[in-house]
Amino acid sequence: MSGFSKSRRVIIANWKMHINSSKEAAVFLAALRKKARAFKGVEIWLAPAFPLIATLKNPSIKIGAQTVSAYEGGAHTGEVSVATLKNVGATFCLVGHSERREFESDEIVREQFARALSAKLTAVLCIGERERSAEGAHFSFIEGQLKSAFSGVRPQDAGRVIIAYEPIWAIGRSAQEAMQPSEIQEMVIFIRKTLSDMLGRPAAAKIPILYGGSVEPTNAREIITEGGVAGLLVGHASADLNLFLEILKICRK
Ligand code: PEP
Repeated sequence: MSGFSKSRRVIIANWKMHINSSKEAAVFLAALRKKARAFKGVEIWLAPAFPLIATLKNPSIKIGAQTVSAYEGGAHTGEVSVATLKNVGATFCLVGHSERREFESDEIVREQFARALSAKLTAVLCIGERERSAEGAHFSFIEGQLKSAFSGVRPQDAGRVIIAYEPIWAIGRSAQEAMQPSEIQEMVIFIRKTLSDMLGRPAAAKIPILYGGSVEPTNAREIITEGGVAGLLVGHASADLNLFLEILKICRK
């Protein structure tokens, strides 16, 4: 896939390891599909655990992976290559999720990002600071993550890139502890400027910026309407069908 429609919101479900059976995943997907048409203007993307990808083929909901190997193939036990992902039907992958960055360096994230893009997968690059500082060090941290991941990325790849801004301190908590929309908007402007400086304004304008971090039905509306984002990356609430359906309903246009 190349290019995103500005008139549509991208809502990505990161199931993490919350859904662990193919039966449960299939039931969830069938229910989602039934309702998908009601969510006008919303693209639903689903990132299950690797083995479930092949079981969830679907024409209306994009299926992708939670990470990908930095290597093309060969002797890398436990890794999953872009070729395998494509063969089992994945069209996108998350890269650099903070729960993976615990043991993956910036260099590995850069390789994974480049590998996904050169294989023509859509790459959802996750970035986010561990903490905020009164002096604004979180801005230079985010700039550093972007510069590292994008070194070598060409402006013509922008149509297959999504940025998910996920402050680590706001992940896996509750809606009350999530980031405020005005702060999200400020960071989105900063990210857009950094992308423009790196890729040029036309290419940067093609890249949707999403927010992730404790999105629940109670805060989804204000984040999507006041946060300046093109969509959401939803973690724990995406593995609960009713909560996820509510979020999708809130995000429809
Ligand atoms: C995530 O980890 O990508 C995420 C957004 O998680 P949660 O919604 O659970 O904070």
